[in-house]
Amino acid sequence: MYIRVLPPDGKVLITVPQTAGDDAIRMFAVSRISWIKKQRENFEAQARQTKRQYVTGERYYVWGRRYRLDVQYSNVRNGVFLTGGRLVLQVRPESTPEQREHVLNDWYRAQLKSKLPEVVQKCERVVGTHASEWKIKNMRTKWGTCNIEHKRIWINLQLAKKTPECLAYVVTHELVHLLERNHNERFQKYMDTFFPEWREVKISLNQQMLDYMSE
Ligand SMILES: [Zn+2]
Repeated sequence: MYIRVLPPDGKVLITVPQTAGDDAIRMFAVSRISWIKKQRENFEAQARQTKRQYVTGERYYVWGRRYRLDVQYSNVRNGVFLTGGRLVLQVRPESTPEQREHVLNDWYRAQLKSKLPEVVQKCERVVGTHASEWKIKNMRTKWGTCNIEHKRIWINLQLAKKTPECLAYVVTHELVHLLERNHNERFQKYMDTFFPEWREVKISLNQQMLDYMSE
């Protein structure tokens, strides 16, 4: 048996032989509790370290491409735009990191909002299911969620930082939940059919830490 703690949220994965009983697995997990806690603390410390200050020179991703942040001061209005490899953030000089984050997040949201309908339309055609509502939400630990009963799908705001392929993968994944609730073999078969490269995209997505962001 072996045990892993996965970033970014410290999910615990235990690999066991098929013959292992529940009690043995539980014993094994309990015996590693302090190690698990330690791993989780490390992830949290890492997340705190990457907390952004929203100052010139920091790097931000937009649709999988890296940009240098250029903070420009304006007392007239807030604004965000891309120019010549730079991500320009216009804010008041006395604005706090939280206020700057808010301005930038609004812009990321607008980016995602403008791209989402096209991706959804394409993926819905492939999967053959239809969500009644799509929402963009800043989530700490999940790329997307699906409320199967109400056919309501939430997409993580931070997908605007990843490649468009990642967005298509998450949208497909959530649409497949309207066919299969669990991440079982049937679910994987659907993914293989509708999004054959899903495994690679999933790995690359989960290797990227979610930025520390307040909700
Ligand atoms: Zn899922």
